[in-house]
Amino acid sequence: MAGVNGAQDLNGLFLANGWKIIMNRRQFIKSVGVGMVAACGVFAGKRQLIAQTIESVKAPGLDFPLMDFHVHLDNSTIEKVVELSEKLGVKFGIVEHAGTKENKYPIVLSNDEELKQYIKMLEGKPVFKGVQTEYSDWSSGFSKEALTQLDFVLTDCMTYPGKDGKRTKLFEKGVEDRVDMADKETFMDKYVDWCVKVIESKPLDILANVSWLPKPLSQDYDKLWTEARMKRFVNAAVQSKVALEISGSYELPKMPFLKIAREAGVKFTFGSNGRYPKMGRLDYSIKMAKELGLKRSDMFIPVSKS
Ligand SMILES: [Zn+2]
Repeated sequence: MAGVNGAQDLNGLFLANGWKIIMNRRQFIKSVGVGMVAACGVFAGKRQLIAQTIESVKAPGLDFPLMDFHVHLDNSTIEKVVELSEKLGVKFGIVEHAGTKENKYPIVLSNDEELKQYIKMLEGKPVFKGVQTEYSDWSSGFSKEALTQLDFVLTDCMTYPGKDGKRTKLFEKGVEDRVDMADKETFMDKYVDWCVKVIESKPLDILANVSWLPKPLSQDYDKLWTEARMKRFVNAAVQSKVALEISGSYELPKMPFLKIAREAGVKFTFGSNGRYPKMGRLDYSIKMAKELGLKRSDMFIPVSKS
């Protein structure tokens, strides 16, 4: 153990001394992001990922630090969430829902003023500032200037146009009454079309909950995610320079999907979609990253503006 800044040394310290663990994890949380010279920002011009210059703590077996870009503050406070981040040694990217008021969540940021207040609340905290956007029309209420204050934009394709033309959450009970899923193959083609449309919406950095399927179809995941559909999805992400989340909570995408994404050169992120205290739970994400041999250069890493 030569020093406290090397990854190997820190891993050793984690095991050897509880007090030092906390200290070094704090240093880690503060250091990840701020010293990196490159950005994958919310606009295309900033997306290019360049090598990072500072040393930072890496997870055992990985050459990059653990980051969970899908953390919700619901039922908690930023202070409690930061405390948990330090305890776990995982840097968090906080996301609040953003989009038009047609979207129903406890909080939906819909204009610059609301977005700026949210960003202000996160100011100075050792987290990445993000939003989880809803539907394909989300950016209409925001100026480019306000959006550039975010570290990243994340979304998913779980809110879908229903039979009545209204937005429908595919995870809600009785969804088959509101969305035509009788013919699974037909639904899948339309669902992939929708996901591609969402991936192409700008500005966007991360597509979350990748390959998730609504309950009536989830049993047929392996059959319905054909190679052609996976490739279409992945190619859209590559074209739009959108990173794909490996979800620790849903344990998705499955390996065949991930392999196609890796071969296509897509960037990845880890995400828990966690509400307190379930954030930072990334066992599946880490396992898949190790099996795929993911390196730092395969990961999306923004520069924190805090
Ligand atoms: Zn979420």
